[in-house]
Amino acid sequence: EGKKNRNEISIFDERMMQALNREEMLRRSIKESVEQGGFHLCYQPIVDIIDNKIITFEVLLRWHLNDEFIPPSEFIDIAERYGQINFLGEFVLEQAIASLSKLNKLDNTIALSINVSVLQLESHDFIIFLKNLLNRYCVNKNNIHLEITETIMIKNLVYLSKVITQLKSIGVRISIDDFGTGFSSISVLKELSVDYIKIDKSYVDNICEHSKDKSIVSAVTKMSHMIGCKVIAEGVERNDQLALLKGLEVDSYQGYLFSKPVKFEQALELLR
Ligand code: C2E
Ligand code: CA
Ligand code: CA
Ligand code: CA
Repeated sequence: EGKKNRNEISIFDERMMQALNREEMLRRSIKESVEQGGFHLCYQPIVDIIDNKIITFEVLLRWHLNDEFIPPSEFIDIAERYGQINFLGEFVLEQAIASLSKLNKLDNTIALSINVSVLQLESHDFIIFLKNLLNRYCVNKNNIHLEITETIMIKNLVYLSKVITQLKSIGVRISIDDFGTGFSSISVLKELSVDYIKIDKSYVDNICEHSKDKSIVSAVTKMSHMIGCKVIAEGVERNDQLALLKGLEVDSYQGYLFSKPVKFEQALELLR
């Protein structure tokens, strides 16, 4: 019995070691891989729910390391824990704004929605870096939307509200991402002046089957509109979900139903 236990423990140790080694390997590869072109951006349309026209693309980061695809759910967390998210975030911001200037030559109303980690916003260099980019690339600042995830913003609402006020004075727009997955969604809306809320996919998934999810999305949409926020539904995969969301007066949607995230050239095609 004792022997069996020891074996289990050693297998567990081995798995933990493997996980740690992988993490260590990924952590060390990030910077070099950025410099060698291992990272690129994908673009997923956000579509007006009434006329089905693309109004925005969300920018999503992709990483291929020696032919292996590493998902953002894995590397973003590592970058945040090991102090590399600012470096990675600056790469995303620069690439995104360069793409935006090209997209806007085709259609000057199209916006890009860029994910930013709360850790990036906590860095004093963020605004300076962004302002420098805006000086270099001639883009309409209203066409830059920054997505901030609701789950991690609560700790630092007072500071965040100052940063967001500064960003808004530049002209940049703010979205609350994954709305409904945190614990103080309403206080986030009260304290921060945001332009868009993105209702998390977990509310959209079963919206046709679970009346409670539908009621929550309905109420959140009404409340958001009353305080001047537009509402985006994420993760829309089926027509029945879309029809229902339209009935609830959600403003726009994003999901595999319209398009998966695509490369820049395909994004341009979608606009044509
Ligand atoms: P998110 O911001 O919630 O992004 C939406 C995720 O849902 C994306 O996954 C997208 O590909 C996926 N998705 C979109 N529509 C559908 C759908 O209809 N069905 C399903 N099943 N999935 C859908 P992705 O690209 O793997 O990104 C995962 C997360 O990684 C993002 O979640 C975001 O939090 C983070 N992330 C991605 N790029 C960046 C970045 O540049 N910076 C930061 N800080 N985070 C990023
Ligand atoms: Ca997002
Ligand atoms: Ca999201
Ligand atoms: Ca989500």
